Amino acid sequence: MRWPYLNDFVVKYLPEGARIKDMINKLLKVLENPRVKVYYGTTVKDVTGFTGNFHVVLSNGVELDVGAIIVATGASPVNTANYNGSDGLNVMTIHDLVSKGLSTGNDVLFIDMCGKPYCQAIMFNTALALRRAGKNVYVVVKDVMTVGTQYEDLYREVRRAGITILRVPREGDVMNYVSLNHDIAVIRDVELGGDVSVHVDTVVFNTPMRPNSDEVSRVLRLSRDQEGFLMEAHPKLGPVDTMTPGIFIAGAVRAHRGFGEAVLEGYAAAARALTLLSRDYIIKEVSVPRIDPSKCVGCLLCVKACPYGAIKGEPGKPVKIDPAACQGCGACVGECPYGALDMDLLSDDAILAQVEAALLRSLRRR
Ligand code: SF4
Ligand code: SF4
Repeated sequence: MRWPYLNDFVVKYLPEGARIKDMINKLLKVLENPRVKVYYGTTVKDVTGFTGNFHVVLSNGVELDVGAIIVATGASPVNTANYNGSDGLNVMTIHDLVSKGLSTGNDVLFIDMCGKPYCQAIMFNTALALRRAGKNVYVVVKDVMTVGTQYEDLYREVRRAGITILRVPREGDVMNYVSLNHDIAVIRDVELGGDVSVHVDTVVFNTPMRPNSDEVSRVLRLSRDQEGFLMEAHPKLGPVDTMTPGIFIAGAVRAHRGFGEAVLEGYAAAARALTLLSRDYIIKEVSVPRIDPSKCVGCLLCVKACPYGAIKGEPGKPVKIDPAACQGCGACVGECPYGALDMDLLSDDAILAQVEAALLRSLRRR
């Protein structure tokens, strides 16, 4: 397997470089196991079924029956740098820099276009690697973000190593405060309250990572946050679970993640899947809606509303609910304009009777 980022320089100087090399070697050994099947260059076309019994169709036509699904599709770099270049300067994004093996001139200027803690961690780790290799390194940020102890330590190491951090105003585009003219960069620094000029021969834009979640969230009907990351069931009680039992998430598709964090999440998701698969059977404790076929006109609004794909039907015919796939959320009941659906233990009659009883009790107290 080709691993483009892993040249000798990266392994030697990046703080996690040696560890990444070890982990990749372990992973290559796992792939040799005859019980592990890898489909390269393949996407997932369709997934049906429920916990312990998913049916997956791949883009190469292969169909699989699986008990659990772990989504670890990662994130990809996005080029948001709005800069067209300057004479004599070597200009690149951070992802180009890493994939080319950290090859730069002697005076390197990093410009943070992302502003996210994990993206800054990539930038500072890379800046530190270059500094350790004897380069002069300057970093332009609106704010330094060090969420988590490991990033605090990284920040201290960056300062100790002699990397110059220049902080520009928070308002507007960062490039409003940086001008690049041949080999001189002029930066507005809010700490000094004026312009700072430095000699540079390489400019590196720290551009963001975006999760590879478009297709997978559609096929698996998984929720995403405003940045496109897949959402967990609960950040503390179910960090690698999703709202669909049997589907788990790990790594950069879930949140901005470093290598160590992504590996830990992979272990956690595998453990959760194992807990599920080691059982002989699963007891479901959800209330499944009842359908009144005489009222159902087959408009299929409930099919669209069901986040778990539990309702199947054809236009004009009464629909059917798969009790194994249903999670009892009640979304379909609220959506049906014909009153054809009712929750087993929470029927309209039962709720109205409870409201009536509560009102009567409060009237009697007066
Ligand atoms: S929304 Fe109601 S009427 Fe329409 S298909 Fe579903 S159950 Fe039938
Ligand atoms: S209650 Fe209705 S919408 Fe919710 S999972 Fe069950 S069938 Fe789907």
